[in-house]
Amino acid sequence: MRVFLASRNAKKLGEMQRILREHAPGIEVVGLDDVPAYDEPVEDQPTFEGNALHKARAGMAATGLPTLADDSGLCVDALNGMPGVLSARWSGPPKDDHRNNELLLAQLADVPDARRGAHFACAVAFCHPAGAEIVVHGEMHGRVIRELRGSGGFGYDVLFVADEHADADVTSAELTAAEKDRISHRGRALREIAPAVAAALGAGGGT
Ligand code: IMP
Repeated sequence: MRVFLASRNAKKLGEMQRILREHAPGIEVVGLDDVPAYDEPVEDQPTFEGNALHKARAGMAATGLPTLADDSGLCVDALNGMPGVLSARWSGPPKDDHRNNELLLAQLADVPDARRGAHFACAVAFCHPAGAEIVVHGEMHGRVIRELRGSGGFGYDVLFVADEHADADVTSAELTAAEKDRISHRGRALREIAPAVAAALGAGGGT
C-alpha cells in the first residue's frame, strides 16, 4: 500500500502528503528521496495534464510503484493564460519564486483591477503497474494583487487572492494550510482522485 509521489517541490509535496493522509488514509507515501535516483523527465508538454502524466509514467517505470504526479501553475487572464505550464520557470533559470513574482507584478503593472483575474490549475495523474491511468484537474479562481503579502504557501501564493477570500482580501499565503487545502486547485484534484487511488491500492478509501 505504498504510492510514489514524483515531485521535487518540497512545499508541493508537503501539501499533497497532507491532503492524501486525510482523504486516502492507510497509504504510505514515498518521495523521490526514498527511491533510487532516475532520469526525471523534462516537463515539455503543452498542458498540465500532459506533464502530470509524463511525470507519473516515468516515476512508475523507474520505481515499479503505483505513482502520483502533479503539474500546476497560475493562468492569468490578461496574459492569455500564461505563465501556465511555464509558471515555475517564468523568469528563467534557475527556478526562483521571488523573481517570478516580481516579473509577474511588472508585467501586470498597467492592468487595471477589474482585469486582474487569474486561476491556479492543477492536474494530478495516477499510474498503476496493472495498467490503470487516471488524470484529474482542479482549479482555484481569484485575482492577482499589486504587492506581495503573506509568508505561508509557496510560489505565487503571495500575490493571489482567491474569490472565496476576496471580501477579507487575504492572499493564499495568508491562509492556514487547512484553509488553502479546502479551496485550492491541488486540494480539489487530490480529493477527486484519492478514492480511486485508495481503491487501486486496496486501502479502503477516504472521503
Ligand atoms: P510544476 O508543477 O512543478 O511545474 O510547478 C508549478 C509552479 O506553479 C510552482 O513552482 C509555482 O510557481 C506555481 N504554483 C503551482 N501551485 C501553486 C500554489 O498552490 N501556490 C502558488 N504557486 C503555485
